[in-house]
Amino acid sequence: MNAAGQLYIVAAPSGAGKTSLVKALLASLDGVEVSVSHTTRSPRPGETHGVHYHFVTLDVFRSLVGEGRFLEHAEVFGNCYGTSRDTVAARLAAGVDVILEIDWQGARQVRSIFTDALGVFIVPPSLAELRRRLTGRGQDAAEVIEQRMDEARAELSHWQEFDYVVVNDDFAQALDALRAVFVANRQRREVQARRHSELFTRLVG
Ligand code: GDP
Ligand code: ADP
Ligand code: 5GP
Repeated sequence: MNAAGQLYIVAAPSGAGKTSLVKALLASLDGVEVSVSHTTRSPRPGETHGVHYHFVTLDVFRSLVGEGRFLEHAEVFGNCYGTSRDTVAARLAAGVDVILEIDWQGARQVRSIFTDALGVFIVPPSLAELRRRLTGRGQDAAEVIEQRMDEARAELSHWQEFDYVVVNDDFAQALDALRAVFVANRQRREVQARRHSELFTRLVG
């Protein structure tokens, strides 16, 4: 597929800081948006329907799957998550860079369709720090945190399937690194040729 915007996949074990980093990136860079997934998980305190996720029942989720409305979907920690096909396609066609915050299973499905999607994997500086962040976030029950710690190694084992790896130790440094990936990719010749076609015509005819 040849879209105007660049598609990014950002993955990480739960608690590594993916959502915080992406939020800070969006605040500091124009022309990039994050796709809002559908999920069957319950909203956390402070999560808003349509902003953080489209929160749906399992029945609704299954019918969306049946209608082919998802670009990818996967079961993560016993809940279903999926990315809306039409929304992503429309934003890319409008020239916007789109970020999918999805797990490694979804990343594989997306790469098979958007072969030029770029993958960024975010890792914590240690498993002990990952546990501290999951606990410190204060939004998941103790058994949910244990389940996410168990799953963290499985998610981490897929790090080599991604194009870029950002270690989220110092937050500001990790944000700089993530931002650099996006800024550098916008200077690629084929992107610049599209964005500045009139300039190149004026410069070299
Ligand atoms: P958090 O990442 O710890 O904030 O936890 P979430 O409950 O928001 O997400 C749980 C898992 O679902 C993560 O591993 C995400 O990568 C994954 N996930 C979220 N949205 C999607 C999606 O649209 N598709 C897929 N395949 N996975 C998703
Ligand atoms: P994810 O979306 O990957 O599950 P979050 O963005 O929710 O992760 O981050 C998990 C917790 O860790 C949050 O409470 C967040 O404020 C905190 N956090 C994120 N990055 C850092 C960092 N570099 N240093 C310390 N705490 C962090
Ligand atoms: P949380 O429930 O903590 O918000 O997210 C847990 C995990 O689900 C995260 O690792 C997140 O990346 C993943 N996730 C969220 N939305 C999607 C999605 O639409 N598709 C896939 N495959 N994973 C998702």
